[in-house]
Amino acid sequence: MTATIIDGRATAQRLHARITARVAELAVSHSLVPGLAVILVGEDPASQVYVGNKTRQAQAAGIRHFDHRLPIGATTQELIDLVKALNAREDVHGILVQLPLPPGVDDSAVLAAIDPSKDADGFHAINVGRLSLGEPATVPCTPLGCLSLIRQVIPVMSGKRALVIGRSNIVGKPMAQLLLQNDCTVTIAHSRTRDLPQLCAESDILVAAIGRPRAIAGAWIRPGAVVIDVGINRIDDGSGKSRLVGDVDYDSAVLRAGAITPVPGGVGPMTIACLLLNTLNAAQRIRFGPT
Ligand code: NDP
Repeated sequence: MTATIIDGRATAQRLHARITARVAELAVSHSLVPGLAVILVGEDPASQVYVGNKTRQAQAAGIRHFDHRLPIGATTQELIDLVKALNAREDVHGILVQLPLPPGVDDSAVLAAIDPSKDADGFHAINVGRLSLGEPATVPCTPLGCLSLIRQVIPVMSGKRALVIGRSNIVGKPMAQLLLQNDCTVTIAHSRTRDLPQLCAESDILVAAIGRPRAIAGAWIRPGAVVIDVGINRIDDGSGKSRLVGDVDYDSAVLRAGAITPVPGGVGPMTIACLLLNTLNAAQRIRFGPT
């Protein structure tokens, strides 16, 4: 039997439609238009593609977007000054600094300058702290999207054994916090973890976020497990062309898992939809107070 394919693209489209409808409603009922400011430094091609997608989708949802593109030589202080100016603007409700910032820029100082109530990515220490305390917080977009995909196939996660492979601040750690909040028994693995295949074999939910093409073998996966593949890796397909693959060996994993996200078309589309959701929620909180 092959796994249920969790369609991230369709799920993201449904979320996008709900956001678009709410944005339209807010414009009519409260003359409120959520605004997202995106800061991109330098010419990194991948970052330019990500930022292009984010601003296009924000526009399609009716969210106002403000693009700030700075040359590679921009200093930490210039970025902090820009962030502070955006903090003060009433028409900006979400601020996103596209990472990675060029070498020489202190990215933690830049992120720390963002008003936590406008922190669209949920990377500010205040939001990270609130998430770990179980308090209302803006949650990083990728793990938020992953959680929503897991919920589609496991509505009640209580007591499930979850394995998060990867411990980055943007994916692994917040993912583990969200699973813990949902009463999973959570293990976090990383590059020093011993006996990863055994941990995989014990897990009902497996989230792979390591950035290593097809490193997680299908044979490691517990039969029937839910597999969320965050990895985006570009590989040569053998004929001189490149293609995207995840961190999980999809062809073998799909034969053992109960449900699995494809790459592309799984987690990726959800990340952007969750960014728009975070911006919409920030606009509502700033205007109406906490819900
Ligand atoms: P990082 O490089 O920041 O972190 C990778 C993590 O994986 C580290 O904790 C590292 O361990 C761990 N790791 C590396 N190799 C292994 C291994 N062989 N076994 C176990 N653990 C390992 O990556 P990110 O979290 O930023 O991203 C992970 C992947 O997700 C990338 O492919 C990225 O492109 C993708 N991504 C996709 C997004 C989406 O929207 N779909 C959004 C964000 C990321 P250690 O800490 O010990 O070094």
